[in-house]
Amino acid sequence: MTLHQTNLTTAELRAIDAAHHLHPFTDTKGLNAEGARVIVKSKGVHLWDSEGNTIIDGMSGLWNVNVGYGREEIIDAVARQMRELPYYNTFFKTTHLPAIELARLLAEVTPPGFNRVFFTGSGSESNDTIIRMVRHYWAALDKPEKKIIVARHNGYHGSTMGGASLGGMKPMHAQGGLPIPGIVHIAQPYWYGEGGDQSPEAFGLWAARELERTLDEIGADKVAAFIGEPVQGAGGVVIPPATYWPEIQRICRERDILLISDEVICGFGRTGAWFGCQHFGYEPDIMAMAKGISSGYLPIGGVMVSDKVAEVIANAGDFNHGYTYSGHPAACAAAIANIRILLDEKIVDRVRDDIGPYMQKQWLALADHPMVGEARMVGLVGALELTPNKATRAAWPAEIGTVGTITRDISFRNGLVMRATRDVMIIAPPLVISHEEVDDLVRITRKTLDEAWAEAK
Ligand code: PLP
Repeated sequence: MTLHQTNLTTAELRAIDAAHHLHPFTDTKGLNAEGARVIVKSKGVHLWDSEGNTIIDGMSGLWNVNVGYGREEIIDAVARQMRELPYYNTFFKTTHLPAIELARLLAEVTPPGFNRVFFTGSGSESNDTIIRMVRHYWAALDKPEKKIIVARHNGYHGSTMGGASLGGMKPMHAQGGLPIPGIVHIAQPYWYGEGGDQSPEAFGLWAARELERTLDEIGADKVAAFIGEPVQGAGGVVIPPATYWPEIQRICRERDILLISDEVICGFGRTGAWFGCQHFGYEPDIMAMAKGISSGYLPIGGVMVSDKVAEVIANAGDFNHGYTYSGHPAACAAAIANIRILLDEKIVDRVRDDIGPYMQKQWLALADHPMVGEARMVGLVGALELTPNKATRAAWPAEIGTVGTITRDISFRNGLVMRATRDVMIIAPPLVISHEEVDDLVRITRKTLDEAWAEAK
């Protein structure tokens, strides 16, 4: 019998969890004093907890359940595949139908010039793969000294040694002696927090040119690649000024370094384009993918490789790299069914033309709230900068505690999952959210801000 079939109380479930489960990104002692929320059911954009509360999932799980919960097409496809061939690998001159079909489908939905994929199990694995792949690429071109990867402060690229090293999260680096050698971090294009007196456009150029200055310093002949998220997600939904990405692309091209777009959050429709690079108008050489590729129904990721890079890798002999679950058949089946839903229901167009603009209008209007310093949103991913003083954009005094966390907890009690990074509130609902559900979400957000303002003031 599984716990699901028992009549254990929430308190009993929490006690078992506290005794046996170490949660990711969690202060275990703090959590266990409070007890974890137990989520038991889902449908569409809604979750239900063990106490019967209905909650709008304003975060699509972890920015990944793009087509919403309870999609029978995906569930059926996975069940069928499980019966047919639950597992086989793609090593040693072997392949299988779901891997073949997904690889072809990805070539169809990714930008022109992308025709090959290396399958992984997650975003972190995709980025670890990329570190090894770009070094292998330059070695194959007789430039083995081109090894360094330039990334950004406050970027997020995963939790493995490689992913966390590419990421620019100081608290992650502090644990385990990261970053690994060969990773250099430059400024992020965070205009609200770091733009000073510059216009967003001028600041975007300045931040991009940090790459050029870094290349001058260390020598482009030692640099393999630049990596960035189109929109920094975990860092607080940092939407770069329009000038940023085209300038980054110019520098990468001129200085002969590969441009890597980490599309783990932005891919598969989040920005209203299939991939974030298309929204911001740049053409990467490599893309990291995960999350929305399967809407989280099963874990799968991939590294999508442009023809320029694929040509070299394909002709460079063995790539000594791979995962037991590279191209897992059931996970591929989930991804295929998920991408078919995105295509058949024209969900990406809907984010660009209909529900995205509809939600953006309401979300951006939250900037009139006394505690909101800036509201920003692209497609269906947005943020609110909380501040006690809009004019100075000041941070909250430390004795109040983390206002973002306080606000997140109030939001949850009000029936909406939002995420907090520092004092930035983040929203990224399923792409299938309806107009009425957006109205609900924004209404709860405003109520939450009123309550948080009263508490933090
Ligand atoms: N890259 C980005 C941009 C992410 O947001 C994440 C996860 O949030 C990752 C990589 C890591 O993905 P995973 O958690 O699947 O390893």
